[in-house]
Amino acid sequence: MTAPSLQPLEVPSPAYICPFDQACSYLEAAAKQLKLDGGTISILSNPRKVITVSIPVKRDNGEIEVLAGHRVQHCDILGPYKGGTRYHPAVTLREVSALAMLMTWKCALLGIPYGGAKGGIAIDPKRYSVGELERITRRYTSELIKNIGPSVDIPAPDMGTSPREMAWMMDTYSVNMGHAVPGVVTGKPLSIGGSRGRDMATGRGVMICVREALADRGKSLQGTRVVIQGFGNVGSAIAILLAEAGAKVIAVSSGAGGVYAESGLDISALKAYAADNRRSVVGFPQGTPISNAQLLTLPCDVLIPAALENQITEDNVNQIQAQLVVEAANAPVTLSADQSLTKRGVTVLPDILANAGGVVVSYLEWVQGLSYVFWDEKRVNQEMEHLMVQAYRQVMTQSQQQQISPRLAAYSIGVGRVAIALQDRGLYP
Ligand code: NAD
Repeated sequence: MTAPSLQPLEVPSPAYICPFDQACSYLEAAAKQLKLDGGTISILSNPRKVITVSIPVKRDNGEIEVLAGHRVQHCDILGPYKGGTRYHPAVTLREVSALAMLMTWKCALLGIPYGGAKGGIAIDPKRYSVGELERITRRYTSELIKNIGPSVDIPAPDMGTSPREMAWMMDTYSVNMGHAVPGVVTGKPLSIGGSRGRDMATGRGVMICVREALADRGKSLQGTRVVIQGFGNVGSAIAILLAEAGAKVIAVSSGAGGVYAESGLDISALKAYAADNRRSVVGFPQGTPISNAQLLTLPCDVLIPAALENQITEDNVNQIQAQLVVEAANAPVTLSADQSLTKRGVTVLPDILANAGGVVVSYLEWVQGLSYVFWDEKRVNQEMEHLMVQAYRQVMTQSQQQQISPRLAAYSIGVGRVAIALQDRGLYP
């Protein structure tokens, strides 16, 4: 397969692992498994629309800064584009393109009628005031106004964004349309049509996958030793839910480092500590300090990277001691590290399955919004649980039947569904 023609906007460092090339490699492996023809592969490997907008923002000190904002719409064969909006200094067009492609396979795997998209701005949100972040978000939304909408492309939170940013996006879009349009984003506050259960949804989906994988091995969550990298929206929800279910969360980290306690961390106390310390767990008094590098190689039963890409690489893969690695973040394990882990018999539950709880509840939020009927949290969690368990079982069955890794099985199911839909719809004109 020829690599698609996205031009890198940045000069990569020698150790740079291109996320888009990695995403294409996974697509290529699935396409081979599915025996897809070259034309179908070319369509699926190229994003349909790549949008970069200029965002001039007035800083609080009066200076003007111009930021670049991206939105990549990978594929809308199955329905409107859907995907998060990331604010992080490492955002690049290639990263956003890779994440948009993952969203396409993830939605198809979970059986929800969306295509894949992703957006992002290369900023460290901690360096901006709330007012500056609001101006950035509103200008980014207004630049994208013709490219988003409830039946076109529906953004959601991702790294560095939250319900607050979704409310600003919804308001900006609605003011420009002249009426309230809650369906333009998901992950909104409850007050404007958000869904109950959305805040914990990605973490809950990860918890369900861990629980099912342990059950397949005749084990339960009770006493299982878990390490989590990242303590943001996703990592903190995973820690809370796993601890509630009886697992021992022995280490967690945020960007500047982590904490470790052999007997299990007190997650409620840690959550309160992080809330008072700009979301950092560093310095938590009831644990021993540990670096992010050390955390990944701790002896444990389950390792859950829940921060960012390329955390388990050729450099540290041989030191990974967990027998089960669950990708809560998108693409935290590189292609070569994934192959090494699989060879060693370590099970890796891939991102497009493990972290799909968020997009499932985003879909449920959209469904509730369109029908003007809002469900209680129990119903939301039940519907989500059903779709997650169903997808988990499909992936593991295919993995066992075809003797392939769960990742290849997940990709084959997701890519296969999109390829069939593409064939059924046909090519215009
Ligand atoms: P977040 O910004 O809320 O949290 C990110 C966490 O990672 C923070 O604790 C941060 O301190 C930590 N972190 C940042 N840089 C780090 C580094 N170099 N080393 C270790 N930790 C670092 O983001 P989030 O929404 O929790 O997203 C985390 C991951 O989950 C991302 O890969 C995202 O794409 C993926 N994801 C999120 C959702 C969602 O619903 N938010 C859904 C699916 C997938």
